[in-house]
Amino acid sequence: MKNFVQPKVFLIGATKISLSDLAEYLNYTDQTEFAKEIDEARNQYLSDGEILCSFYAKLCYASLTTKKNKNISKVRGVYDNILNTIESQHESVFEHASLNFVITDCSRVFTHEIVRHRVGTAFSQTSGRYVRTDELNIVVDPILESVYENVEHVRSYLEDAYKFIEHKMLDGITDFDEKKRRTSALRRILPNGQANEIGFTINLRSLRHLIELRTSRHAEWEIRVIFNQIAELVKDKYPGIFADAKYENIRSLNEITFKNKKI
Ligand SMILES: Cc1cc2nc3c(=O)[nH]c(=O)nc-3n(C[C@H](O)[C@H](O)[C@H](O)COP(=O)(O)OP(=O)(O)OC[C@H]3O[C@@H](n4cnc5c(N)ncnc54)[C@H](O)[C@@H]3O)c2cc1C
Repeated sequence: MKNFVQPKVFLIGATKISLSDLAEYLNYTDQTEFAKEIDEARNQYLSDGEILCSFYAKLCYASLTTKKNKNISKVRGVYDNILNTIESQHESVFEHASLNFVITDCSRVFTHEIVRHRVGTAFSQTSGRYVRTDELNIVVDPILESVYENVEHVRSYLEDAYKFIEHKMLDGITDFDEKKRRTSALRRILPNGQANEIGFTINLRSLRHLIELRTSRHAEWEIRVIFNQIAELVKDKYPGIFADAKYENIRSLNEITFKNKKI
């Protein structure tokens, strides 16, 4: 059906290392050996975000090199350090790197759920106060396939009703604040399934928490679809963060758990 849509996620940004500035710090503190660890980590296709998190983990123990802490005689590479950080429940260091996503054609059902996550997240979503509805697109769960025609009737009835009332309430209004007040009032007749957009930033620690919670077999269909897409976009780019991921196919989507995540 033309006005039935499915959510789509795009990864549009991620924390990067400023190598020249980091080199300046390493030089200043006589720890230039860590630059070799960065090269090795990059050869292992680790992300800048993971390297940065490992840097902060190592900073805690003065273990960027063997020179700063007499308690240590060797240092772990970045990948091993990430695994050890996960196992030792020192996951707070994963709060240093964030990923930026934009999700299009997602419903208000999904956005109501996702914005409940307060820790390590940031959201910016389509404003129902400012943005008028020209076309009512609905995010439809395929479980409704046998009644798609009926759903389309409801959708098209709501779209027509909205346009009729919008025409009566907004035609000829030129004052911007008045348009906003009326647009905001009109959104109350729109359904939860209406497609809209949300920008979403999350740090790597919270990402592990949300992927587990939101790909679970008990989670709602749309949020599972979206977090499956997020995991697909991220898992090869962040091999350290996903090193302990376990995948189980439940109703055609992955349920992802992190074996060593304890918090
Ligand atoms: C299957 C499922 C069903 C749900 N059903 C409902 C429902 O019917 N009604 C409803 O209102 N909500 C519901 N929710 C939403 C749920 O209650 C949470 O608000 C949402 O999942 C956010 O998760 P979080 O608390 O882990 O928050 P996050 O912000 O992701 O927090 C991450 C972690 O930080 C810690 N934390 C965060 N804030 C605090 C705090 N203030 N104090 C102490 N520790 C904190 C907790 O350990 C938390 O797990 C449901 C969620 C799921 C997954």
